[in-house]
Amino acid sequence: MSEPKSNTSFYQSVQNYFEKAADHTGLHPGLIEQIKACNAVYRMKFPVKLEKGYEVIEAYRVQHSHHRLPTKGGIRYSKQVNQEEVMALATLMSLKCAIVDVPFGGAKGGVKISAAKYSELELEKITRRYTTELVRRNFIGPAIDVPAPDYGTSGREMAWIFDTYRAFKGEDIDAAGCVTGKPVTLNGVRGREEATGRGVFYGIREALNYKEDMDKAGLSTGIKGKTMIIQGLGNVGSYAGKISQDEGGAKIVGIGEYEGAIYNADGIDIHKLIEYRKENKSILGFPGSKAISKEDRSSILEYPCDILIPAALENQITEENAGKIQAKIIAEAANGPVTSGAEKILLERNILVIPDVYLNAGGVTVSYFEWLKNLSHMRFGRMEKRFNQQTYEKMIGIIEEHTGRVVGDLERTFVARGADEIDLVRSGLEETMISSYSQIREIMNTHIGVNDLRTAAFVSAVGKIGSDYLAMGIFP
Ligand code: NAD
Repeated sequence: MSEPKSNTSFYQSVQNYFEKAADHTGLHPGLIEQIKACNAVYRMKFPVKLEKGYEVIEAYRVQHSHHRLPTKGGIRYSKQVNQEEVMALATLMSLKCAIVDVPFGGAKGGVKISAAKYSELELEKITRRYTTELVRRNFIGPAIDVPAPDYGTSGREMAWIFDTYRAFKGEDIDAAGCVTGKPVTLNGVRGREEATGRGVFYGIREALNYKEDMDKAGLSTGIKGKTMIIQGLGNVGSYAGKISQDEGGAKIVGIGEYEGAIYNADGIDIHKLIEYRKENKSILGFPGSKAISKEDRSSILEYPCDILIPAALENQITEENAGKIQAKIIAEAANGPVTSGAEKILLERNILVIPDVYLNAGGVTVSYFEWLKNLSHMRFGRMEKRFNQQTYEKMIGIIEEHTGRVVGDLERTFVARGADEIDLVRSGLEETMISSYSQIREIMNTHIGVNDLRTAAFVSAVGKIGSDYLAMGIFP
């Protein structure tokens, strides 16, 4: 079996989802057209001198919506990158920001390279040259457009982008806000690296709390003990897995990766698996698990589990394999893993699809915190930590005095501590994921004809973006 086939492109799926939701927003058709369109597409080709000689690199930056500025969205390094893919991803970013109430327009970047084929030095040259192109065209800046990591990129690339931007715009005191997902030591924020995966965990946990929805999907409530299969053990997949196992008590039974897949109904310890992969350069052969070859790796999506988490790339669940999925919940950690045709089949089968536009918005939420930190030039918690700690100490003292009970050291450390940056970031993320889920679910339950979470999420987002345009007096 090769990769599942699809007649619908990723961009077309996003358009289909958009149109399905648009009818329920009550907005003027012209306004809908404006919200749907990508405002600016910058396609570039630039030469880079690499170890084997010159190579011409193809790359993109798409700004989907300028209703709020700056625009925001990750940069992807993948051989699959093309203009339509980046346009689809940029569209999702606008919707995502609106869903989690982050005041940005949407954007996305893509560089058409397979990162694994280049040395670190070559990747640095490509990244710096790409950033230079963005600076020259005014496509980057803390008030203009702010990239972040995505598939194939990480804090390392963000550090190069920041440094290149700073070389051109060193006089800009807010220069660090030109990119997020930077290493903590280079103006990053604690908790950004884990943010998307952690948000995925909070979103799944929230969905599992509603008995009515779980009855429909054929599951009991609560994440504890639920079985999970994860496709893609990169940034998002590995954090979603680690946090679901450690904090949620979920049981991971299957993992799909580039080199193949593994399954073990008795459970796979994700920490041990990550260690094993580091040593062996493959997940195959992990003790106690059944190995599935590279050619057959997509079949892991069809194995039995409660929750399937695609966390690699788009178009993984298509009309071809949607009927064979055994999971009761599909949690879209990746962008666009389910095609619009596949979703119809899944919904008919009462499989709950938690959509990408909501579920992986933890990344941009914490990127927003990082951008705010950069603009304020101060670590979160710096002003109030000590004050809060002293206040709690005093309160414990009063309680001890009135009750005659001495609070133990462990309890004291837990209660009488001021929040650190990581505590505040996680708390802000948790609140965002819980309240956004509740908003979407409310729309699903109150709008006639809106019967699934994705349509509800699109209705929520398009409605919010539409309100911005209406407030500007742009459409009737
Ligand atoms: P990553 O590069 O860190 O990891 C992706 C992993 O998927 C890699 O380990 C790769 O080997 C694996 N993979 C590739 N093709 C595969 C296949 N056919 N089967 C199984 N595994 C495969 O990327 P990431 O940052 O974790 O992003 C993953 C997805 O999450 C993407 O769709 C991305 O757009 C989305 N996303 C990422 C972020 C973020 O903050 N990084 C935020 C929102 C959404």
